[in-house]
Amino acid sequence: MEKRELVIIGAGPAGLAAAVYGRRAGLDTLILENGLPGGQINITDEVENWPGTIHASGMELGEAFRRHAEHFKAEFRSCTVTGISLKDGNKIVLTDKGEIEAEAVILATGARFRKLGCPGEAEFTGAGVSYCAVCDAAFFEGETIAVVGGGNVAVEEAGYLTKFAEKVYIVHRRSEWRADRSAIEQALANPKIVPVWDSVVEAIEGDGVVEKLVLKNVKTGALSELPVAGCFIFVGTEPNVSYLGEENRIVKQAKGGWIITNDRMETSAEGIFAAGDIRDKYLRQVVTAAGDGAVAAMAAYAYISGQLYLRSVLFGPEEVTALFTSSIDRAQIALQVQAEKFMAESGRKITFVDAYKNGRAAEKLGITALPAIVEIKKGVITRSASPGSIEDIKKFIG
Ligand SMILES: Cc1cc2nc3c(=O)[nH]c(=O)nc-3n(C[C@H](O)[C@H](O)[C@H](O)COP(=O)(O)OP(=O)(O)OC[C@H]3O[C@@H](n4cnc5c(N)ncnc54)[C@H](O)[C@@H]3O)c2cc1C
Repeated sequence: MEKRELVIIGAGPAGLAAAVYGRRAGLDTLILENGLPGGQINITDEVENWPGTIHASGMELGEAFRRHAEHFKAEFRSCTVTGISLKDGNKIVLTDKGEIEAEAVILATGARFRKLGCPGEAEFTGAGVSYCAVCDAAFFEGETIAVVGGGNVAVEEAGYLTKFAEKVYIVHRRSEWRADRSAIEQALANPKIVPVWDSVVEAIEGDGVVEKLVLKNVKTGALSELPVAGCFIFVGTEPNVSYLGEENRIVKQAKGGWIITNDRMETSAEGIFAAGDIRDKYLRQVVTAAGDGAVAAMAAYAYISGQLYLRSVLFGPEEVTALFTSSIDRAQIALQVQAEKFMAESGRKITFVDAYKNGRAAEKLGITALPAIVEIKKGVITRSASPGSIEDIKKFIG
């Protein structure tokens, strides 16, 4: 099977920043992408909040990110990741073009638009139903259209759509929008924007193209028809995580499937990191995705280096005595400190392993309980004990 050091899934801003950092740290870096490198940002016309660039189209920015990663010789592969399996601590990335074993994996597959799920939505997608104002606004020059949603994206994109459309309804299920104050003020001051409060879309109807929305007032239950030529749906996003499996998910996820990480971008699975919009996080933007990617790549580098070091000290020498402890257990930390003192005084050699951070090494040796003191000969445990005190360690070493 193909073996790589760092496999990055997704070539959006997070994955591409990770690739730049990964390559500059000297890692063999493979980036897997099933669409256009650059990610979601490709579909927007204006980006004005990437520091150092006052204005760029998303496509220009995505292209620049890709070229930057290529400059440092990250390898790109066009394929779809269908799963990740963990076998004996090894991470196998499954794709439609074969399997790859990785020392570390960065999940950077971003997010996608949430659907309404009403009749007509799928049928009219591309025929009046859209999820991207910048992509499709120009098709609605002088028309009356609707935006569905009430958050920042819905309210801001409605403003953008008024540059083309004659009238833009914003259909929202509540009686106020959930957007920033400035976005709300701008929208309410725009004479082309008409709010439709307390309403949900029951159906999207037309003859070949969108002609009207069937709305239901959530307070009265009354149905009404809203004649429109287009319907832009901005009701949120969801993470692209289907390849992680519906059951027995390999990493911990928050409500909605967003991936939980710590500030080193480590997921709950050792050696698997996540970066960008896929994470459970406050702000999903290019700048935060790129920052996450940088952190994830450096944390992956530290992880891979640690693994290589451990392999060399545990499995390289003929004979090793190693103490496995957990760095989140006070008693075990104290035991390790005593063992270090004993080692310095006696001149005996003990290899210390934090099994909390290096579960894979412990698992590989078959260590199931901590603390553990083991004697390893040619990579196999020949003697082991569960030391309750420094005296037990001294007795074990003899
Ligand atoms: C219309 C629009 C306008 C925006 N405007 C701005 C803006 O002005 N400023 C700003 O900062 N942000 C903006 N954003 C948000 C910004 O685009 C995202 O925050 C950013 O792209 C997230 O980067 P990412 O790398 O996490 O994910 P993404 O950009 O979503 O990239 C993920 C990549 O993973 C790939 N992928 C997914 N699943 C798989 C799989 N199974 N196998 C292989 N590849 C896979 C996808 O094809 C994609 O290329 C906008 C977003 C949209 C949609």
